[in-house]
Amino acid sequence: MTSQVMDGKAIGEAIRSEVAAGAAQLKAKGLRPPGLAAVLVGENPASRVYVASKVKACAEAGLFSDKIERPASASTAEVLQIVGDLNGRSDIDGILVQLPLPKQVDEGAVLRAIDPTKDVDGFHPVSMGNLLLDQGGFEPCTPAGIMELLKRYGVEMKGRRAVVVGRSHIVGKPMALMLLREHATVTICHSRTQDLPAVCREADILVAAMGKTAFITGEFMKPGAVVVDVGINRVTDAEEAARLFGGDENRIRQVREKGSTLVGDVLPTAMWEKASLYTPVPGGVGPLTIAMLMSNTLKSARLRLGA
Ligand code: NDP
Repeated sequence: MTSQVMDGKAIGEAIRSEVAAGAAQLKAKGLRPPGLAAVLVGENPASRVYVASKVKACAEAGLFSDKIERPASASTAEVLQIVGDLNGRSDIDGILVQLPLPKQVDEGAVLRAIDPTKDVDGFHPVSMGNLLLDQGGFEPCTPAGIMELLKRYGVEMKGRRAVVVGRSHIVGKPMALMLLREHATVTICHSRTQDLPAVCREADILVAAMGKTAFITGEFMKPGAVVVDVGINRVTDAEEAARLFGGDENRIRQVREKGSTLVGDVLPTAMWEKASLYTPVPGGVGPLTIAMLMSNTLKSARLRLGA
């Protein structure tokens, strides 16, 4: 079986240049740039990296961004105050609150406080309800990016069996709803699913969003399936990297020189052998998430500016 990579980096770049063209059109009409506010609470290093890359992506696409930082000791009331201020600002079209929030902050209350017309992450209950009812609005960026990828690679979804492993609010559940909207026959799996390999083997399109290193092996795959690997896990052992990546020298060197390499929820060697199309980690789903955030911010600005 010859398997083909779905290049999320290239598709992410294409989406980002479409967003840049959209922002340039607004400018040509004498309108302000789309504006994204990123709220970062605490010192979580991964969150810092994510927010920095979102701010950089904004600058590259001609979007305005405002990073608002608070210490890890911030209270729910302080974060609600920030969100309230951002809801009222006319230069801000999108509000993203980087998760996770420190544990004393009521995450649900903060997400519910975001004006749904600025909810570019798509996590507000109103956005989720709109998705469920097919009524438009903002959609969570990771599954929305995966749908773009599948469409741009010409993957037929209508009538096909899709299996989503994971039922989180940010990936698994919205992913399943989006596949359903495209007329796939969808099964959602989770930690209590019985005989997961057998359920996954029915999939023409298999999406793994579990957060479990290389859990999905060849035993879970129908030959020729389209496999989307959402997981981001770090492998720090060179021998393990060698096993997961079929002795790939680059990966082994990465672990030795940088201390780790990234692997998804799917065993790479199994994808290479059995999938017809698959997403690599890194360079698959990850770059699409930020691209869709930019795209949602542009969409919000156009609605707000009537352009
Ligand atoms: P969560 O931890 O919120 O959800 C994991 C899901 O996987 C749960 O529904 C859980 O089931 C299910 N699961 C866990 N173990 C098993 C198992 N052994 N068998 C079957 N199902 C299982 O994770 P997220 O959805 O937030 O993220 C998933 C992965 O995707 C992570 O690695 C994360 O880092 C990555 N991610 C990547 C993004 C990107 O941009 N590329 C963006 C967002 C996430 P149950 O509900 O029963 O507990």
